[in-house]
Amino acid sequence: MTATASTSVGRTAWQTLRLPSAAQGFVHAGGDVFESTDPATGEVVAELASSTPESVDAAVGAAVRAFETSDWGSNGELRAKVLYGFAGALRENQARLAELLTREQGKTIHEAEIEIASSAKMTEYYAGLARAVYGRSALLGPEVTGVVLREPVGVVAVITPWNWPLVLLVRSLAPALAAGNATVVKPASITPAITVETLALLAAQPGLPEGILTCILGSGSVVGDALVGHDGVDMIAFTGETGTGIGVMKRAAEGLRKVALELGGKAPNVVFADAKLDKALAGAENAIFTTCGQICTAGSRLLVEDAIYDEFVERLAAQTNGLRVGDGLDPASQLGPVASAAQQEKVLSYVERGKAEGTLVAGGAALEGEPYDAGHFVSPAVFADLPAESSLIRDEIFGPVLTVQRFGDEAEAVALANDSEYGLAAGLWTQSLDRAWRVGRAIRAGTIWINTYHHFYDEAEVGGFKRSGIGRQQGIEGIHEFTETKHLNFDGKETLW
Ligand code: NAD
Repeated sequence: MTATASTSVGRTAWQTLRLPSAAQGFVHAGGDVFESTDPATGEVVAELASSTPESVDAAVGAAVRAFETSDWGSNGELRAKVLYGFAGALRENQARLAELLTREQGKTIHEAEIEIASSAKMTEYYAGLARAVYGRSALLGPEVTGVVLREPVGVVAVITPWNWPLVLLVRSLAPALAAGNATVVKPASITPAITVETLALLAAQPGLPEGILTCILGSGSVVGDALVGHDGVDMIAFTGETGTGIGVMKRAAEGLRKVALELGGKAPNVVFADAKLDKALAGAENAIFTTCGQICTAGSRLLVEDAIYDEFVERLAAQTNGLRVGDGLDPASQLGPVASAAQQEKVLSYVERGKAEGTLVAGGAALEGEPYDAGHFVSPAVFADLPAESSLIRDEIFGPVLTVQRFGDEAEAVALANDSEYGLAAGLWTQSLDRAWRVGRAIRAGTIWINTYHHFYDEAEVGGFKRSGIGRQQGIEGIHEFTETKHLNFDGKETLW
């Protein structure tokens, strides 16, 4: 362990984690060492050994053996017990994990606590379903019976992004395990330590057969690619950028492996003149600036009806300029840093483009001076008057940048909302019930929030239309994704025909 001095006000000293430790036998890694760093201070959070092609092979091999030789796939009671135990361990370790999550990812400590609690709750939901993986049966003739079983797919690769690294891990891992699969996890290179420390709580659960949970570490292009292309893998549950997802799907096609893809977004958030404006203003801010805009469902395209446009934008700008950006470990911070230097550079390059194409009405600067200099801080930005073809309106920026567009009537609002290659989520604000149903039906996206935003429920499916993904997660469909159906057909007649 190496002591690293704290550089930020109110921080406790941090000792660099060295992972994987001997206690983490489920991690297959023995290659070059890489670091994960704190985006608020630049301090080294963890040093990790990356996986090699041999360790990817070992992880997948262990998963294949465990799937073939253990009773995991047929013992729902055991699966439920292990998952409930994991959820309990998440709750017991919430404070420690939340601090590590904030240090490694940058998000506010309040959000980090919510992320751990949400991960525990979602794990419990799938722990319950582990004992209810039901198929169907049908009487197919006088003496013919068909039983359609749901069986585990086999070995599932779970590849995760860095923005909500635990909820998005659990969202695939918990249903995959609940359905009886063996798993190989590959976390994002920005958030490996929090993933390993969380998985260690699962690996420690009594009864979990060795090899049902394995983990590899390292870059997507080498280690991730080796996993997706491995013959022992039956399915890939990928969450990440659309471009990466397309590459993963092509690679998986070489072995005709099943994929579930949760990809990028550019969600419209539509405010009609009859909305409750105070609530819509708070909703607009929450929709884009949660996790510093680094969330796939971010309401990054605000559409506002003409009659209230000027007042709404003026109030939104004032509200945005009042947001407190700072170290995520400071409970007063409302936004932390963006997650890496590359993210900061990307956001600021869009801000520069936006300044040339439209009007910057709030924020949009790299924050400088103490305590910002060592980290990747950007003040949240709001742009108006951009042309419809602007890259700020079309691209997923994945940062604290909001664009505002004006619309005249409902038809124009729907047309603008649907004018995107993505279809992950949308918000709409109105007091008219008729309009809420009509517009909600007309927008092509997997989740539509009406007079609310960013509320997720374990019971309700999420997923993307268009280039936002393939398949659904959460809810019952979320566990069905990780099963194959098998028709067992029984014919009791004396003769064949
Ligand atoms: P990313 O695509 O860069 O990486 C995601 C994961 O894929 C990482 O673990 C990475 O190492 C791995 N990877 C990269 N190249 C790979 C390859 N060739 N083969 C296998 N694995 C590879 O995404 P990110 O920057 O980590 O996350 C941000 C993106 O994720 C955004 O586009 C966001 O919208 C999306 N996202 C989507 C959802 C959703 O539910 N739809 C949720 C969160 C994030």
